[in-house]
Amino acid sequence: MVTYKCFNCKKEVPENIRGRRVRCPFCDSKIFQKMKPEVSQFVKAR
Ligand SMILES: [Zn+2]
Repeated sequence: MVTYKCFNCKKEVPENIRGRRVRCPFCDSKIFQKMKPEVSQFVKAR
């Protein structure tokens, strides 16, 4: 899941909460920083 970080209030806004809205639900900001997923992703071995 992709998480966005609000550039204004520095709060993390998960994509499922944000939905299609472009604004931060906390401060109504429109600027987001897209956070890269951590390296702890699981990779399925085949
Ligand atoms: Zn915000």
